[in-house]
Amino acid sequence: MPKAGDLEGRIELVRKVVELERARGLQDRAAIGGLEAFVSRHLPEGKRAVAGYSQMSPAARAKALEQLEEVLTSLGRGRQPCPEDLARPVEEAAGVGEKRAALLRKLGIETIEDLLTFFPRRLEDRSVQKPIGELADGDAVTVVGTVRAKSRMRVRPHLELIKVAVDDGTGLLFAIWFNQPWLWDELRQGEKYAFYGKVQRRFGELQMENPVWEPAGAGFHTGRWVPIYPATEGLSQASLRWLIRRNLRRYGRVIPEILPEEVRRRLGLPPRREAIRRIHFPRGPHDFERARKALAFEELFLLQLGLALRYKKEARGRSLNPDPKLVERFVQGLGFDLTPSQKRALAAIEQDLRAPYPMLRLLQGDVGAGKTVVAAGACVMAASAGAQAAFMAPTEILAEQHFFVLQELFSGLPIRVELLVGGSGTRKRRVLAAIAAGEVDVVVGTHALIQEDVSFRDLGLAVVDEQHRFGVVQRAALEKKGEGTNILVMSATPIPRTVVLTLYGEFALSVLEEMPRPREKVRTVWVSESRREEVYREVEGFLARGEKGYVIFPLVEESEELDLRAATQAYEELARRFGREQVGLLHGRMPPEEKRAAMSAFRAGEVKVLVATTVVEVGLDVPDASFMVIEHADRFGLAQLHQLRGRIGRGGQEAVCYAIADPKTEEARRRLSAFRDLTDGFKIAEADLQIRGPGDLLGTAQHGFVSRLKAANLIRDLGLLEQARVEARRLVEKGVPERLRREVERRFGEELELLGV
Ligand code: ADP
Ligand code: MG
Repeated sequence: MPKAGDLEGRIELVRKVVELERARGLQDRAAIGGLEAFVSRHLPEGKRAVAGYSQMSPAARAKALEQLEEVLTSLGRGRQPCPEDLARPVEEAAGVGEKRAALLRKLGIETIEDLLTFFPRRLEDRSVQKPIGELADGDAVTVVGTVRAKSRMRVRPHLELIKVAVDDGTGLLFAIWFNQPWLWDELRQGEKYAFYGKVQRRFGELQMENPVWEPAGAGFHTGRWVPIYPATEGLSQASLRWLIRRNLRRYGRVIPEILPEEVRRRLGLPPRREAIRRIHFPRGPHDFERARKALAFEELFLLQLGLALRYKKEARGRSLNPDPKLVERFVQGLGFDLTPSQKRALAAIEQDLRAPYPMLRLLQGDVGAGKTVVAAGACVMAASAGAQAAFMAPTEILAEQHFFVLQELFSGLPIRVELLVGGSGTRKRRVLAAIAAGEVDVVVGTHALIQEDVSFRDLGLAVVDEQHRFGVVQRAALEKKGEGTNILVMSATPIPRTVVLTLYGEFALSVLEEMPRPREKVRTVWVSESRREEVYREVEGFLARGEKGYVIFPLVEESEELDLRAATQAYEELARRFGREQVGLLHGRMPPEEKRAAMSAFRAGEVKVLVATTVVEVGLDVPDASFMVIEHADRFGLAQLHQLRGRIGRGGQEAVCYAIADPKTEEARRRLSAFRDLTDGFKIAEADLQIRGPGDLLGTAQHGFVSRLKAANLIRDLGLLEQARVEARRLVEKGVPERLRREVERRFGEELELLGV
């Protein structure tokens, strides 16, 4: 009997030869004297697996090598896989060499576990099998037959065709491949194979172009429902499938369970090991969906657990005591009554501020719903409690506008507001000193607010406007300026409920449901470029009636110069047409004073047509603007379009929005139809999610977060998400086992850190 050490050495030797044999194309040239002889000599236990190797077809050889590897694995007692192996680099997975590892890494597969949890997105039905005699044009089916004849020919200099006649006793089918010369040796005359593909009737023949094939009876790539992976980066679907199968065989049994037994049973979910096996190799669609659901639930559960845990951990805040009298004075001074949902939001905020935990509240409402007033009220509360408030906007223009609005709202109140934007100078230094000394109650600004040189005496509240443009990183940084700072996030883009629950799992939610001033619905027309002239003639009509409005041009970073030129050119044309004094220009490259001048001229009505770039640049509140022309509307996102449109008809007057676009993609067409047909911000957000998928919608910062979800689908899995939330909370109440904490950290640690909640 050889010693164990010997055995390990011999196993390793045979393993190397197997890899070499594969690398050399299964030609039986890896070992002198042939593979079979080599194995008999060094590892008699594996002899049976490769008996007759030199006579086998390449397909049969591939199979024999797999069997030999099984033997190697089961022989290597001391090297039985253990759960820790799952974290080993993917190079160590069965069948993965350096080249493949590099390709797998491109797919984000770093470890053996990553490979096993690289889930297919959908199934392809290859289960229907038909005799050749019954095939019809257009069938997508599996056919099993014997190769009777082969031919190859060069059709064009760089196009070689291999054609194989397949016979199953009921008829002949021709399988055709282009530029795959290796198939010539692999497909052997007289052998039986299974083919899957789309049947075409051509020149009186039944043909299949580039069918998938494998030895008859293999039942792996054909004859069943087959998983399709999202991307393969130079690997074929077939080889990925094959890799995953081999490694599931080797490591499947050491995959650990994650969900608590009780939760799993309550929801009737299969064990994780089985779910992972089934999602790759389902018996059919039902089986696949059951497995996917189990894995999706697991992800969402861990995510919700993470949010709940993190919130608990950092739930040290301070309670602020707003002065009700000052708040009342603020409300009285508004000159209008708050809507019921504004009142509810303010009451909830006050409760949050008084409570000894940090507020974390998302204030949602369509454009014009009155969020700014609510946020201003929150600032009054903080200031009246002796703390400072920071009010952050995504751009300088919006910050300036907020500053302007807050000054008005706070006039007559003992509250000092300051604006802090980029740049330097003595004014800025004075403001910084005043902030540090606690003389400023409310600071309005951009990202400049979270720069190192800004220090607050006592930051009690941070208001963040337009969260989705802002990014979670900045928010987290802002939070660090004060301990246990209360956070109020305002979002004008209504976020679908699924996304709120996922990304803002622990946010409390206030929604402004009703519009404060009943607004006429803005009428939206979508016209093609060829009808631009008609649009501007209607604009003439508006101007003749004394109305004013915007002409918007897209401005994106990659093509900024061009975009700017287009906008400037349009401005020149319109200035010629409507008179220079009536037309203004506003874009991001202008010096701040010029911007401010353009805005106030428009606000005052001296300028009637404001040609502007990008959304935020016109994040203006000019209630009597009543028309908007959006040029190249197909280049804007749906949410952006909706935001833009929200800028007109604010005073309750009739308003029209013209979207000029000849969209080139189906997606852009769907976007524009949705824009034309929908006015409700929430419906728009749902449509956007449907059209673009969640990753895009959330912007880059949150994208990483969502792309961590491998099985869950934020559009379809709302129900699962809600269950996951309930179960996660239940577990947090009872106490979360260390093992699960580690799992949450491992999977979502980075993202949760970023979210800073
Ligand atoms: P949002 O920030 O949600 O887009 P704003 O707070 O800017 O909306 O409000 C839009 C306009 O409506 C502003 O001119 C504001 O003064 C006004 N407004 C806000 N709340 C009310 C209300 N309850 N009644 C009447 N007008 C209101
Ligand atoms: Mg606003």
